[in-house]
Amino acid sequence: MMDQIITRLKNSRSVLLATHVNPDGDAIGSLLAMGLAMETLRIDAKLFCQSPIPALYRFLPWSHRVCRLPDDIKKYEAAVILDCGEFERIGDSVEYVQQIPVIINIDHHFTNTHFGSINLIVTDACATCEIVYQLLLEMGVTINQPIARCLYTGILTDTGSFRFSNTNRSTFEICEELVKVGVNPHDVAKHVYGQYSLSRIKLLNLALDSLEISKNGKISLMTLTDQMLQETGTQNEDVDGMINYARRIKNVKVAVLIQEYRNGRRRTGERGRYHVSLRSDGSVDVANIALFFGGGGHVTAAGFCTESHLSHLKETIFKLAEVL
Ligand code: 5GP
Ligand code: MN
Repeated sequence: MMDQIITRLKNSRSVLLATHVNPDGDAIGSLLAMGLAMETLRIDAKLFCQSPIPALYRFLPWSHRVCRLPDDIKKYEAAVILDCGEFERIGDSVEYVQQIPVIINIDHHFTNTHFGSINLIVTDACATCEIVYQLLLEMGVTINQPIARCLYTGILTDTGSFRFSNTNRSTFEICEELVKVGVNPHDVAKHVYGQYSLSRIKLLNLALDSLEISKNGKISLMTLTDQMLQETGTQNEDVDGMINYARRIKNVKVAVLIQEYRNGRRRTGERGRYHVSLRSDGSVDVANIALFFGGGGHVTAAGFCTESHLSHLKETIFKLAEVL
């Protein structure tokens, strides 16, 4: 699979690199690392993500080069889609991007739908950045400090700072190599975890206040409304990681965070659009739950989007607790 990708990329003059909406560290790290690598190979690469790059990740090289529209689709000979379990995860331009003759799908979600013409799905990779690292080595790309910084950031964040169950020996082996070429772990950690705005902390306060626990204590649920984001002056990106507080509660098997879409519900009582994040302690496969609702993800971290009344959505979720 890697050979096919390498041949295809090396024979392309111009490629589109894309990742999912509301990008996390792995999405951004893999996108930027691929972009930087394409430059060393003198392949013209356009970097695309529909959502803005969160402020926390703007310290990464080339983060300012990511465009929010994939312009002039005809010029691309191939598209590389990173960290997306489904093609639709890239957002509104999916039908447009689909027209690119070769779609290279690089991902680590076991729920991946293999939507590409070439699919490199490595489900035991701790992050898409791990797969990109291996691919770049195979391509003969020198992993320089800027590339290493992007890859390290993706691995750091997708493993929850080397705490989640996807952390393994190769995670540390790769990170050792990345540190060897100049990544400073303390510096990356300072950027990613040590620069929270006061608004974000105020939003965390509201998130903690919204905590509800199922009768049997197995499900914890947080709810963030659009109004809470507006009140605190925060953005979607500021919600990232808050679910971990709900996950950490003793005896909780599944933590849930419901987030209302911006303008998702115009009037009280109306059906709203929500994103639901799921995390498990490892004893429950939340990817399966997410799949049931039309989403996807990993065994211990998954998500889906839904249109519903908030009270009905909460009820549905708490009903799940009875069978856990
Ligand atoms: P998060 O809860 O941080 O948004 O996402 C956790 C995991 O679930 C990630 O691996 C992400 O790819 C996956 N995920 C989250 N939301 C969706 C969704 O709407 N659709 C799919 N297919 N996967 C999702
Ligand atoms: Mn990932």
